[in-house]
Formats: sequence, structure tokens, C-alpha cells
Amino acid sequence: MRWSQTLIPTMKEIPSDAEIPSHQLMLRAGLIRQVMAGAYTYLPLGYRAVRKVEAIVRDEMERCGAIELFMPALCPAELWEQSGRIDDYGNALIQFPIVRGDRQVHVVLGPTHEEVVTDLIARQIKSYRQLPITVFQIQTKFRNEERPRFGVMRTSEFQMKDAYSFGTDLEQLNHAYDQMYHAYRRVFSRCGLDYRPVEAESGPIGGDASHEFMVPAENGEDEIVHCNSCDYAANTERAETGRPAPQIAAPAQMAQQDSVHTPKAGSIEQVCNLIGCEPNRMIKTLIYRVDDQPVAVLVRGDHQANEAKIRRALDADSVQLADPKTIIEVTGAPPGFAGPVGLSCPLLADHDVVGIVDAVTGANQKDTHLSGVNIGRDYSLENSHDLRMATREDPCPRCDGSLELARGIEVGHVFKLGTKYSTALSALYLDENEDKHPMLMGCYGIGINRIVAATAETSHDEHGLIWPLSIAPYQVLLIPLNIDDEEVMAAAESIYRDIGEQLGSQGVDVLMDDRKARPGFKFKDADLVGIPLKIIVGGKGLADGVVELKWRTDDDARRIPLPDVVATIGEEIAARVAIEAEAVPL
Ligand SMILES: [Zn+2]
Repeated sequence: MRWSQTLIPTMKEIPSDAEIPSHQLMLRAGLIRQVMAGAYTYLPLGYRAVRKVEAIVRDEMERCGAIELFMPALCPAELWEQSGRIDDYGNALIQFPIVRGDRQVHVVLGPTHEEVVTDLIARQIKSYRQLPITVFQIQTKFRNEERPRFGVMRTSEFQMKDAYSFGTDLEQLNHAYDQMYHAYRRVFSRCGLDYRPVEAESGPIGGDASHEFMVPAENGEDEIVHCNSCDYAANTERAETGRPAPQIAAPAQMAQQDSVHTPKAGSIEQVCNLIGCEPNRMIKTLIYRVDDQPVAVLVRGDHQANEAKIRRALDADSVQLADPKTIIEVTGAPPGFAGPVGLSCPLLADHDVVGIVDAVTGANQKDTHLSGVNIGRDYSLENSHDLRMATREDPCPRCDGSLELARGIEVGHVFKLGTKYSTALSALYLDENEDKHPMLMGCYGIGINRIVAATAETSHDEHGLIWPLSIAPYQVLLIPLNIDDEEVMAAAESIYRDIGEQLGSQGVDVLMDDRKARPGFKFKDADLVGIPLKIIVGGKGLADGVVELKWRTDDDARRIPLPDVVATIGEEIAARVAIEAEAVPL
């Protein structure tokens, strides 16, 4: 491809609305342009990277035995009513009626395709003999982002690879999951990403086991917890604190319980400022609705409650913070003044609450707190649970190490779904005895655009992007320094043609910067777009019979005799591809 014939609108200035490096660089390097908030056009260079990621994903899916199909983005809402997800998704689901003659059809734009694929399999597969099967597609997905940001990292429309496995039993599900987990590791390694699989909650999608694949990045939207000594890693929803269950007993020495006037101090911070205590001495009392019953959840004042853990501790379906009306009904006080003393609803306490001696907590009375509150005397508990977000100081749940927090970009997610969808949509199979059972499902997603954005976010320097060979829009950038010099252009054209003819079959592709522009201008653009290998053809070099070869990651260019240049390009790229391939798990 010739630069003059394609569309690569590079920008010198950093766009003022772009907050993070990947967004800035993808705009500046001419990969994307915004159409509206949360919607982008991929320009030719950006789309080539997307297509290369797709090809790697497709290759690994087929390698692990998944079968490609293609489902519609526009799906009947009826299926979503059957699964119940039409309510679970809320505003994130884009849904609307369309007119078909004299009737209206309610449709959704699919954010994932569990319903459609389960309905398909339910109709087409009847016998255990046809299982297991895993299908996948690469499709545009829709999810209404109320606050789209960070360029293509978080948009309402995105390319995703989604796969679904169907099997007869847990053994088949576990096998499909392991295969997919392994394929994911190969995909992200081949894309050149530094990534980490982390244990995850299954969230609204249901199921009982899942992993997210995270690329560590300062600007990542997700927080992850990992051990500083073993490979334990989990997202913050899932992360265990590694705290053992403490003995529940009243402290040996206790202060007297006192009532403290705390006008308008309804937050931990306000109370601490007013009465001069530390947040870790306070019992934060949160009123939740758990399957529609009020429950008071107690955590230490400096800790954050974790709804997923509350749900697990009570084996509940739904957990949400109670509204002010319920709080007043349960505690007799406005929000901000709840406490465990004298509360009639069930108490659920975190392990770390048990150890607080002479605690400060709400008095279940407006503008009032209690001090000197102690377990055993003022309130009682039968047991305690891990109910909070892990923090930096927590021990690792798997070894003697301690936990650290980091941020990451989620690029993939694998779930064991179980029978949630197969039951709701009647995906049943007949076993050897002609008995019917729901199929066991798994679902597996990869964010194609996220891989490109995560690469831009984590692989760049002050001059621009640094692509790995595997997903670079082009592997070689050929720069004739002066296009008016006939000798220079003749040499450049011949290198351009020979790369295509001799190296095209090994996947080497080349972009020639044939613009009439100063060398310094072309070099700046070259660094910005970050194509891995640069070949510079200039009049001076040609007089010595050489051209210059420079890798994006090297400091200096090397001089290569003109007749050897294409063979050298082929050898050096093959050697680097081999090194990249060695890092990919088998
Ligand atoms: Zn550990």
C-alpha cells in the first residue's frame, strides 16, 4: 500500500478530549476517528490491526475445535424475556420496537448471544451423541454505555469474539472450559500482550466459575488483586481476603457504652472528624435488601462491603442496598445512623468487625452514635464471614505472601454457565436411556477492539505506538526520502515490489511513504504510527550502494547493501516472529 493512496490522517497535537495514552495515540496515528461519544470509525490503519487480531482469534478458536457461525446483531426481545435478562441488563441493553406491517416487533441489539445460540442448539441438537459442541462468532456487539470514555476502550458498539460450549455433563463442560482457557492464553500471547488470568465473579451472566484475562495498565478500568509471592490473582469482587474466621467472644476489658450527639454526621468521615476517632474503630452498618428481606451488614469503617460476597454468604439471588424508606423502617432513623445495637433485623458481620473493641457505630436514632460498643454485651453474633473488598494489607488466601492492588484492562472472559440458559430456553438432550436433561453450557468472550486499545495503552514511547509484528497494521514501512529523485524512487519501487513477491507469502506486508514531504516529517509520522521495521532509501546511501534498516525499538539504523535488503528483511522478521512464537504457550 502507498501512503498517498490510503487514508492515514496523523495529528501533531494531542487531542484535548483524549485522556489516556491509547486514546491519544490511536487518534494521532490516524487509526480511529470519533463519530459521536462512544462510537468510532476505524480508519484503514486501525482496521488492519483489528483484522489481524481477528485472524489470530479465529485461528486459535479453530485450533481448539470451536466451529464458526454468525448470528444476527438484531435479536427478538422475546428470547431475552425467556431468559429474564431483559430486566437484569437494565439501561445497558439497547432495545426498541420496530414496525413490521401492522404489528410491532420488540427487538434488542445483542450485547452477547446466549439466548440466540441456546435457542438454535435447542432446536438442532437432540441427542447426547451430538454433544459436546462449541460454536463461536466474531460479531458487533452493543451495550449502552452511559459514560463512554477512554476512546475505543469503552464504547457502546464493539467487535467481540463470543463462543458457547454445550455438553452433557460437568466433565464435558470442564474440558471445553480448559480448552478455551488455554486458547485464550495463546491468543493474548500471540498478540504480544502482557496479561494475567484472574479469578472473577460471574456477575449477571450467572454460573459458578469464571476467569478474566487482564492486561495490567495504570489507566485500566478494572481493579485486580494479586499476590506478591504466588500466582493468585482475582478481580476485586472475587478476591478473598485471606483472613481466618476469628473466635467470637466479648473483649476482656470494655468501656462503658455511651450515646454521642452527632448532628448531621451521617458518614464515617464526618463522625470521625466530629468525635476524633479512627475509621477502623467504627462499625459501618449497611442495610441491604437480600431477596427482598432486610439484612444489616457490618463491616469495619475503613472497609468496603462486597455485594457478591454477601450474596454468596447468604446463598441469595439478589442483593442490593436498601432505599431510604426501608432504612427508616428497619432502623427507625434516617440513613447514616444505623448500628447493630438493638436492631431487629438479621446481622451479617465481616471477620474484621469481631476484633473491634469499644467500637463507634450508629445508634439507630437521628443525629446520634454510640461509643464503647462491644460484641457479646451490646450485640451478638453467631459467626462472621468474608464480606468485604480485599485491601493492600490483606494476607494471600493461598500462601504466606500478601495482596497487592493493580489496575487492568479486561480483554477476555471465560465462564462456566451451567444450565441457566439451557433450562430457560429448553436446550435439552436425550441420554442413552432416552431421558431428557438440560445441557451444560460455558460462554467465552474476547474484546477484539480491546486488544488493539490495550496494545496501544501498554506498548508505546514518547514518540508513538510500538506494534508487535503479529498485529501491526503493516510490518514494514518503506521510506523513500526524496520522491523527486528518480534513482531513489526506482530503488524504493523495486524493494516494494520484491517484498510483495518474495515475502508476501510469509505474511510480510509493506506500506510505502510516497508522500512529497521532508524526511524529518516522515520520520515523525513513522514513529507515531509505530510500524515495526523501517527501510529508508536515500540518495546518499544509494551512492554507497546501501539502504538503512531500523527497527522501531532500536536506537540506530543499520546500513544494508541494496541487493541484500529484501532477504535481510525476510530473515530478521522470521527470526523475530520465531522469538514471539516461543513466548506462546503450547
Ligand atoms: Zn500467594
